[in-house]
Amino acid sequence: MGDHITRRARMVSEQIAARGVRDTDVLDAMRSVPRHLFVPSEFESRAYMDSPLSIGYGQTISQPYMVALMTELLQVNVRSRVLEVGAGSGYQTAVLAELAGEVYAIERLAQLEERARRALGVLHYNNVRMAIGDGTRGWLERAPFDGILVAAAADKAPPPLLEQLAEGGRMVIPLGAAGREQTLTVFAREGAKITRQASVECRFVPLLSGEDVVAGGPAARERRAAPDTDANGEQEGDAVKCVRARVYGRVQRVYYRASARAEGERLGLNGWVRNCADGSVELQMQGREQAVDAMLDWCSVGPPAAEVQRVEVDAVDPDDTLAGFGVRQ
Ligand code: SAH
Repeated sequence: MGDHITRRARMVSEQIAARGVRDTDVLDAMRSVPRHLFVPSEFESRAYMDSPLSIGYGQTISQPYMVALMTELLQVNVRSRVLEVGAGSGYQTAVLAELAGEVYAIERLAQLEERARRALGVLHYNNVRMAIGDGTRGWLERAPFDGILVAAAADKAPPPLLEQLAEGGRMVIPLGAAGREQTLTVFAREGAKITRQASVECRFVPLLSGEDVVAGGPAARERRAAPDTDANGEQEGDAVKCVRARVYGRVQRVYYRASARAEGERLGLNGWVRNCADGSVELQMQGREQAVDAMLDWCSVGPPAAEVQRVEVDAVDPDDTLAGFGVRQ
């Protein structure tokens, strides 16, 4: 452990402060968050190096300097409510949670969201709320935000995100084509006016828009065919998991419940699905971990007529009285 603390202190002085990040709160946060708990275990020894690392599914945990710089540019404090789009490993989420009052983080890949949420839970970040879904639409029920941090590159700032910026709020987002040099850009709202300022050049994975996100669902599910193996050689898929999920967007009057029941039965899950008065749909599902993850992936896309914006997931105690997958009124 002491070793990790030393490595973090070196990371901060040699990679971050040396490149000009001055905000002492940001530097303290970077010294505190155990980055090695957010990278795949085979990369643990490289957790404090000056580079991004693969976190699977074609995604990366950002370079520590980039995380620090984006956080500094966002200028958040304990009174801030922050939205993060593209939570990935959850590391940037943790850094934000050290500084801001409330953090709302969206990730489109259920597997990454799950892993990030688990790591943040172990570290007791209880000012973080996560959701699976398309972050380009923002998180309307929690808006406006004092800070919005987008960790994937877009051609232009998604309009819903600009609309969800609070007075005096700031958004940090890489702009430019995927695979090319992009420009880290800061948007700031002052009354009706939004200013824009370029920061450094950077390189991020692409921010996928609504249609790409839907197309990404099945591909993400395919990878489950080879489940991750943990340190003991046990397959993750053997564990039993029980979650409650709330699905927002256009999800009622689109056969969401009937389709969810069919999908739940196909995956061999126990549970139920019901409509809520606020227009969302709620599900409880329990069964093999892999099957529950596959169901959550399905939920973030839904039947053809649905337009899912977001899925919020909470772990719940198993309910032994459940048998089969039913529709509840
Ligand atoms: N800050 C993160 C960066 C992860 S890479 C970290 O350091 O770990 C960017 C992430 O954005 C990926 O996990 C990708 O799945 C996610 N992403 C891409 N488009 C998205 C979208 N429209 N909505 C939500 N997440 C998205």
